[in-house]
Amino acid sequence: MFGITSPDDLLLIESVAMVQQICTPVTVSFDDAAVADYFDDQIDEGHTPETCGRIWLHTHPGSSPLPSGTDEETFQRAFGSPDWAVMFIVARGGATYARLRMNVGPGCNKRLAVEVDYDTEFPEADQDLWESEYEAAVTVHDPFTRRPRTLSSDPFEWRDDTGWSESEWVAS
Ligand SMILES: [Zn+2]
Repeated sequence: MFGITSPDDLLLIESVAMVQQICTPVTVSFDDAAVADYFDDQIDEGHTPETCGRIWLHTHPGSSPLPSGTDEETFQRAFGSPDWAVMFIVARGGATYARLRMNVGPGCNKRLAVEVDYDTEFPEADQDLWESEYEAAVTVHDPFTRRPRTLSSDPFEWRDDTGWSESEWVAS
């Protein structure tokens, strides 16, 4: 997902948006045309690349929010061009990881503290809205057959019939 932020505070996430993507437990592949459409739509709504395209959020099905090697590779490949970008991960259970990367000059990385601003409205907290957006945007591929698999309403439930344990997911 992209985090959509306030123009007055580029690290205050006020909304999130999903784009068409194909996921396995260990990879994500964004649909380039969908990403382009997302930016067009956001710009039309008055956002700038700084407020809608700098924060990449994703979840981990295990309890560790630490980025995987694939996460680092994706962050570098997809978010290495703008001046700065943030990788934000929420693990099952609520643990978080956030890191700001500056791509200008010598570049640097800085872990960010995360807090919930309960004073800010966050319409995506609507569970029904979230599920319909998730089901519309995310195609889940079986990691072994690489074919789409049916998603239950609980995105974690299908993990069980893969026979993978949570620790294997974390390691991946
Ligand atoms: Zn990850």
